[in-house]
Amino acid sequence: MDFAYDAKTEELRTKLLAFMDSHVYPAEAVLEQQLRDAADPWERQPILEELKAEARRQGLWNLFHPEHSDGVTNLQYAPLAEITGRSPHLAPEALNCAAPDTGNMEVLTMFGTDEQKKQWLQPLLDGEIRSAFCMTEPEVASSDATNIATRIERDGDDYVINGRKWWSSGAMNPNCAIFIVMGKTDPDAERHRQQAMILVPRDTPGVTVKRAMHVFGYGDHAHGGHAEIEFADVRVPASNLISGEGEGFAIAQARLGPGRIHHCMRLIGMAERALELMCRRATSRVAFGKPIAAQGVVHEWIAESRVRIEQARLLVLKTAWLMDTVGNKGAHTEIQAIKIGTPSMTEWVLDKAIQAHGGAGVSQDFPLAELWAATRTLRLADGPDEVHRMSLAKRELKKYL
Ligand SMILES: Cc1cc2nc3c(=O)[nH]c(=O)nc-3n(C[C@H](O)[C@H](O)[C@H](O)COP(=O)(O)OP(=O)(O)OC[C@H]3O[C@@H](n4cnc5c(N)ncnc54)[C@H](O)[C@@H]3O)c2cc1C
Repeated sequence: MDFAYDAKTEELRTKLLAFMDSHVYPAEAVLEQQLRDAADPWERQPILEELKAEARRQGLWNLFHPEHSDGVTNLQYAPLAEITGRSPHLAPEALNCAAPDTGNMEVLTMFGTDEQKKQWLQPLLDGEIRSAFCMTEPEVASSDATNIATRIERDGDDYVINGRKWWSSGAMNPNCAIFIVMGKTDPDAERHRQQAMILVPRDTPGVTVKRAMHVFGYGDHAHGGHAEIEFADVRVPASNLISGEGEGFAIAQARLGPGRIHHCMRLIGMAERALELMCRRATSRVAFGKPIAAQGVVHEWIAESRVRIEQARLLVLKTAWLMDTVGNKGAHTEIQAIKIGTPSMTEWVLDKAIQAHGGAGVSQDFPLAELWAATRTLRLADGPDEVHRMSLAKRELKKYL
């Protein structure tokens, strides 16, 4: 067993670390300023476009996609995504590796027709447009995807869509041109064959982006927000259906595996950044006659953070290796394990880093509060913890039944 990164990974890491230092970290304050000054905070900020151009020029582009990144594997991508997680509002999008576009590009790569790829995949790969994935609905418990109630009904050469979605990440951004919408084509079919996915251009009549959901009060402008969207008699050509009627559930499953590991890779970067900030702060302030870092309780937080981060990283890397060697299905248990373990690990480290900062930890002067909010949502998004635990436990129990 070799725990070292291979030569290609090391080369890309070196390049990416330099890009983070020279371009991304200095851009964090610029992005904040541009968002504050913007007439419309949902418009793309110029700093993002500058970073994208530079990342592309340096060959740090679409690294998540093996066919469009010189064949970077999941195992090679994991340490790179981790680095981008240190600045989650800027770095993933700068490299065109941000959710939900990555998952949507994977769906179009795996299931799209040539025409769908030309019209939607190519501009996404080029970073010209963005996309949203519309599955969750306000009216039903959407952690059980078979509850999804939006209707996709065939009418001549078209499909007609009616329903309401929320938490469609990225959809507040006017440059988010295409929605992948999940709905039911046949409510009477077998439970997992009722659903389909369909491409709905944002400007189709009947599509109304109603409002932005807040996350602990944050608008999440840099990520294009999380929209509630109404679909009222929305008519699109039948050729917009992805794969076929009844395939929606299977496509959702195929989409979520890689999406989940990408989140976990970035979460490790967030935890590393939190630990770094905790150590810097604790060594730079004195309370009750000694540096905060000299308090036993702070040693405990720092040591425990390092242990938890290393444990999570090893499991994420093993999962990435399994996905490369036996496929996403073969890595199913590990994908669930990291989706359960990594957000709560990062949440724990962030909580301790916030505590070590005192009031500054929850303020706008440090990224910790916003990172904590983003991390907490990942115990819900892409499936709540409890659903992954249920499914993992069932698999484990199967061995004994
Ligand atoms: C920031 C953010 C971004 C998101 N982005 C997107 C997106 O881009 N596209 C999209 O479609 N959705 C998105 N979501 C939605 C997310 O995927 C859903 O919130 C999630 O799947 C849960 O669905 P729900 O909110 O309907 O909760 P419900 O299904 O109502 O579940 C509520 C709670 O019930 C409990 N529960 C459910 N099932 C079980 C069980 N079997 N055992 C024990 N307890 C259980 C869990 O604690 C769960 O949290 C996002 C959510 C957030 C917060």
